[in-house]
Amino acid sequence: SGMDKKKVIVVGGGITGLATAYYLQKEAREKQLNIKVKLIEASDRLGGVISTEKRDGFVIERGPDSIIARKKSAIRLIEEVGLKDKIISNTAGKSYIYARGKLHTMPEGSFMGIPTRVTPFALSGLFSPLGKLRAAGDFILPKGEPKADQSLGAFFRHRLGDEVVDNLIDPLLSGIYAGDIDELSLMALFPNFYEIEQKHRSLVIGLNKSMPKPPKTAKQPGSKKGMFISLSTGLEELIYQVESRLEEGTVMKGTAVKKVVKTGGTFQVQLETREVETADSVVITTDHFHAQSMLSDYAFMEPFKDMPSNSVANVAMAFPKSAIEKDIDGTGFLVSRSSDFRITACTWTHKKWPGTSPEDMALLRCYVGKPDDQKAVELSDEEIVDLVLRDLNKTMNITAKPIFHFVTRWRKAMPQYTVGHLEKIAYVKKQLSIELPGVFLAGGSFEGVGIPGCIDQAEAAVEKVIVHLT
Ligand code: FAD
Repeated sequence: SGMDKKKVIVVGGGITGLATAYYLQKEAREKQLNIKVKLIEASDRLGGVISTEKRDGFVIERGPDSIIARKKSAIRLIEEVGLKDKIISNTAGKSYIYARGKLHTMPEGSFMGIPTRVTPFALSGLFSPLGKLRAAGDFILPKGEPKADQSLGAFFRHRLGDEVVDNLIDPLLSGIYAGDIDELSLMALFPNFYEIEQKHRSLVIGLNKSMPKPPKTAKQPGSKKGMFISLSTGLEELIYQVESRLEEGTVMKGTAVKKVVKTGGTFQVQLETREVETADSVVITTDHFHAQSMLSDYAFMEPFKDMPSNSVANVAMAFPKSAIEKDIDGTGFLVSRSSDFRITACTWTHKKWPGTSPEDMALLRCYVGKPDDQKAVELSDEEIVDLVLRDLNKTMNITAKPIFHFVTRWRKAMPQYTVGHLEKIAYVKKQLSIELPGVFLAGGSFEGVGIPGCIDQAEAAVEKVIVHLT
């Protein structure tokens, strides 16, 4: 409407880039904006870390397997592309932590490892009597000094002591961020915990006051729906469906973007093929290393050079159920870092997501690659499978080799929001708006890891692009 055709280039075709392209085209249609979108992806497939394998009746996730249901942007996108019928919920079974030489059930009433009820903690074998006494310090210790940021470890160690951190909070957070709790940023990841401490002093009391109480029925057997959703046909289905709804000719695969340069009011997007595309706006949705290298002419991108990112390997293994002699009731376990294990987590996927395996089969998914054991990721498939089985047999008793396995290495795929992350992002965004107005960053490296966080950023980028172009 009254504007020339404007071209937007989306760099990267993971969930962030796909959602950006999809919502841009949708907005353009609805608001009759004259916008042309092109999505450029380096690899020969879309989806980035979202990748599903199907084999012998199994649905196997090589990357993410769970979307937190509380954050609505992912469910909205799933419904947009006609996948409402395929939404499944996880079984809210017991989960465990391996610490102090054995498996312990997760204490009831823990929220990200922070107790909200005293009794289950007092009774838990996860902590020594002294550790419990130290955790009770939360009730009496003064609140910490106001700080612009601090590590999650420093914050939780002050309130609850080392044992609760090392045996519960760290394994839980490592399962999500694959990072070192003593490096990760409180304000980037859990600013609400800081606010609770500043307001209520005690985290335990503050959480109890500020958390809506879940309905009692949620804990009763029979209504065993968990906090997560997935898709019965695998999360990659979301990728296919979004891709199929993009306008003809939107996607260019197998082509990496090398550089983005401003020339007057437009941008030159240089491809590795030496071709150059011109755009009025560019949304970069790659990891921060590639984003930095595309914008290496700009000094303000330098902070991304030293922003760490960890590697993990995911190992999926199929067994006949009969091969698992010591079966444990539950959906999986996490491992505390002090334990003599190289795996960090194991999901009994056939129990967490029952439809993903044939009736008489078991599917186990494990991770290796602790922050201080990154070399585990580079072992051969056989070595990784062997070490995983060795670790599993410390708690399980698996008498057979897997029928098949998939080992997937995700190199530098876990961006680390370390102390000061928010400031870093605020600085880069400000400089972008000054030096490269019309170029936007979105994705897992920047303002939220996790699928819903990425889709939120995509939606925000769409708004910013439209404001910039109109
Ligand atoms: P990516 O998926 O990394 O996509 C970026 C894309 O950019 C890639 O396709 C890449 O090829 C492309 N690219 C890179 N360089 C260039 C270039 N120069 N030119 C063009 N294209 C380029 N989140 C959850 O919510 N639940 C989970 O259970 C969960 N589990 C996870 C498990 C693993 C092993 C990993 C790695 C992540 C997990 N996450 C999970 C996090 C979540 O998957 C990610 O935050 C999210 O998928 C990232 O999407 P993205 O589009 O930002 O990045």
